[in-house]
Amino acid sequence: MVHEGLSLNTKAIKKMGSKTASHFSIIPKDDPKQALRLRRFFISLAIYTFNLSLSYLAYRAGIMKLQTLYGFCILLLVIIIILYIVFRTGLNLWMSDPSLTSIQMCVACLVVMYGIYYANEVRGLFFSMYILILLFGIFRLYTRQFLFVSAFALLTYGADIVLLNIFRPQDINLKIECFQWLGLAIVLISVSFIGGNISSIRRELSVSRKKLQSSLTVIREMAIHDDLTGFYNRHHLMDLIDSENNRSVRTGSVFSLVMMDIDKFKNINDTYGHQIGDQVLRTFAAIIRSILRKTDFCGRYGGEEFLIVLTQTNIQAAKVFAERICNCIENSFFSCLGPDSRVTVSIGLTEYRMQEDIEKTISRADELLYKAKKGGRNRVECSD
Ligand code: GH3
Ligand code: MG
Ligand code: MG
Repeated sequence: MVHEGLSLNTKAIKKMGSKTASHFSIIPKDDPKQALRLRRFFISLAIYTFNLSLSYLAYRAGIMKLQTLYGFCILLLVIIIILYIVFRTGLNLWMSDPSLTSIQMCVACLVVMYGIYYANEVRGLFFSMYILILLFGIFRLYTRQFLFVSAFALLTYGADIVLLNIFRPQDINLKIECFQWLGLAIVLISVSFIGGNISSIRRELSVSRKKLQSSLTVIREMAIHDDLTGFYNRHHLMDLIDSENNRSVRTGSVFSLVMMDIDKFKNINDTYGHQIGDQVLRTFAAIIRSILRKTDFCGRYGGEEFLIVLTQTNIQAAKVFAERICNCIENSFFSCLGPDSRVTVSIGLTEYRMQEDIEKTISRADELLYKAKKGGRNRVECSD
């Protein structure tokens, strides 16, 4: 008993442990959008790490000071922690761009500014990073946002030049730096316009993809439904019957077919016109739909002939259902026909017999429907 109790406790503790463990993950599992944003953030993290490795090599090669490397590490660590907390706590969701693309780009510009200020001879190492930073926004930013980040980058580089000129004038050649600043301005402004163009093309593509997807959904629906009654069309109905047949062969489950045909429908058309005839078909379909179970399905087999598949239903249960349809239709008020008119339906009903060809089941239901018509209409005929 003691042993059992102990094992139960261990299980409970393990369960609790896994529960707390499942509470935290580096990338959230329950929010795909936030997960995507964090994945993008991790890409920028990887770029920072490459830069750090390069700076380490520069230090080992004796062209970067240890203090500069330490400062770089601390700066990156602070930025990474702050950004990660912002993403993980959902603070970013308060911003107009929750991906924080522009903000991350500006932060990266500050990192580059630090690098340029302290890197002396290896300043060029950080210089090319400006282009990389702009590439980060290539799929998201508008041209004006690109221009804003470019202006910020030029500001940081300009600040570097001013600060170096004030505090370490011996380390720079002001004329060359100013030319470099101008060169950078030309490159960044050009990249801003190209980037803006690329992201506008991407946005247009994404809009047309969404339109295409919704049109495809409509087309798919139209391809399987009859637009007058909303029931499946004959083609799709036959596919569904085939699947039901296969399931029945595999699992031994029973199903029944209900073949229905509206009585003297030609008279309705002749008396009231084709449009009213259409309205009767719609009302008829709505009544049938209100009776159907979720697991059953109905299709338009012909003009005013419908076939219902009652899944997991034997002939006895199907008969009760078919009688209900007859009663319901007979007692329903078809407003388009006026108060004195009555619509009735005849039904042929049969159950699928194991191993038989499904075509045979359908033609048996058809024959039974014919029998119901001959027997006086508004009735159900079923196989034994
Ligand atoms: P029965 O009781 O023997 O079934 O007589 P019925 O008049 O219903 O039988 P029949 O098959 O001779 O006539 C069916 C009519 O249904 C003929 C056709 O014009 C009409 N029909 C078929 N499809 C549509 C449709 O979509 N709309 C309309 N309004 N009529 C249709
Ligand atoms: Mg008919
Ligand atoms: Mg007919």
